[in-house]
Amino acid sequence: MTGPLPRDIERGLADIVGPTHVITDPDRLVVYESDGLTSYRVRPRAVVLPGSTKEVVEAVRLLHSSDIEIVPRGAGTGLSGGALPTPDGVVLGTARMSQILEIDPENRLARVQPGVVNGHLTVAASRYGLYYAPDPSSQSTCTLGGNIAENSGGPHCLKYGVTTRYVTGLKVVLAGGDLVELGGAGRATEYDLDLVGLFVGSEGCFGIATEIEVRLLPVAEGVRTLLGIFDTMEAAGHAVTAIIGSGLMPAAVEIIDAATIQAVEASVYAGGYPIDAGAALVIEFDGTEAGLDAEADQAEACCHKAGAREVRRATELSERAALWNGRKKAFGAMGRIAPDLLVQDATVPRTRLPEVLAGITEIGERYDLRVANVFHAGDGNLHPNILFDRNDREELMRVEEASKMIMALCVEVGGTITGEHGVGVDKRDYMSLVNGENEVAAMAGVKRVFDPQALFNPGKVLPEMKAEHS
Ligand SMILES: Cc1cc2nc3c(=O)[nH]c(=O)nc-3n(C[C@H](O)[C@H](O)[C@H](O)COP(=O)(O)OP(=O)(O)OC[C@H]3O[C@@H](n4cnc5c(N)ncnc54)[C@H](O)[C@@H]3O)c2cc1C
Repeated sequence: MTGPLPRDIERGLADIVGPTHVITDPDRLVVYESDGLTSYRVRPRAVVLPGSTKEVVEAVRLLHSSDIEIVPRGAGTGLSGGALPTPDGVVLGTARMSQILEIDPENRLARVQPGVVNGHLTVAASRYGLYYAPDPSSQSTCTLGGNIAENSGGPHCLKYGVTTRYVTGLKVVLAGGDLVELGGAGRATEYDLDLVGLFVGSEGCFGIATEIEVRLLPVAEGVRTLLGIFDTMEAAGHAVTAIIGSGLMPAAVEIIDAATIQAVEASVYAGGYPIDAGAALVIEFDGTEAGLDAEADQAEACCHKAGAREVRRATELSERAALWNGRKKAFGAMGRIAPDLLVQDATVPRTRLPEVLAGITEIGERYDLRVANVFHAGDGNLHPNILFDRNDREELMRVEEASKMIMALCVEVGGTITGEHGVGVDKRDYMSLVNGENEVAAMAGVKRVFDPQALFNPGKVLPEMKAEHS
């Protein structure tokens, strides 16, 4: 069933959420045609924007009673096509559900609606000396709902771990509109089946989270941020291995290559990286003040031993902020170089970083494509960024081929197909690279328990549940 929504369903949705929160005008639907993976585009039949759990329950009940598929959507910053609409489906966006419901400083917990922007939670918690640790580079835009669905990471997840470590409770609207409360009050599901853990990372395929409870951490007493400057990516890669191998536990180790440095420095996000450098490392330590300088000294020595040209330290808060802004806005800065960007995401053993980076350069040359690298080096989470113009069909085919080659290379050295961006539609066909038939069948079985008719986000993650996309 495609085409416009039946009039009675459209009217029913308008009765639930209000007519201004149901979008069917093709000009306005364009915005929802893709997420951050712009090479895939599908126009949904409609977008519905509920303002409460009750409205989500009623909208899901109405749509599923007519077997209409639902694609949940937060801010649409996902990079694996997770929020890509289906041609038969309706997008359910959480933009209106953006309230921080409670911050409980005594128990270091926050309860939020799913449309709360990640960075806004940390700002709100800061008045209690607390913050929310998982910090995707998109944190000024992406939502907690999207974060839990993707089990998102970020630069500081090297030390602090990814989203799943912080989610202690969820309200979820299941297929057909049933509401369940999982965990809560800081205890996740310690005494029963860990359904919170199961839901985190389910990529919108199990249901819609309408309330999220997360742990907050106390802001560290001190922080040291270093910028290592190298002539080659290889040398920077060796420095990463040396730092981690020496027993240090940095909060973050991020790598930025020459192409990215040049794009960032030419943009409004300039972080003060030298434009003639072959690579830069942003290294951060945090914790109690005592010992931080010694850790920074030790990391500096590792950089020099690996051939660093220079190691700088951010002495002012503004310098630290500039270094991080340059790193976190690097993808945006690449818009200066090419109209489209495919951000790949794979994880490899840290010790294999130098050879994998050399392999990626070789693949870029073979397919005549520009590839820039900026990624979470400390945990081996690579993000090769392939620059292209999606209007050039021939170039787009080369991008897809090169992308496949990069994935195969990462798997070959013992890595896996995603570090934090999820499988979505982009990696669906790579699932068999890292999973056997039985493993995929087990995952499909779990999906069927939550969503027997495959009405939540069909065509994502699982190969055999593929839907047709243009
Ligand atoms: C510049 C840039 C930098 C990035 N850096 C990082 C990074 O450092 N680390 C990282 O992990 N990711 C990063 N990302 C990827 C992306 O921001 C994350 O995956 C983020 O969690 C997506 O959040 P969102 O609100 O945009 O979700 P969307 O893109 O809207 O949706 C993502 C998935 O979540 C599902 N979903 C959304 N809301 C709900 C809900 N309430 N209930 C159930 N399912 C839901 C959707 O169906 C979809 O499958 C980056 C992206 C960009 C553009």
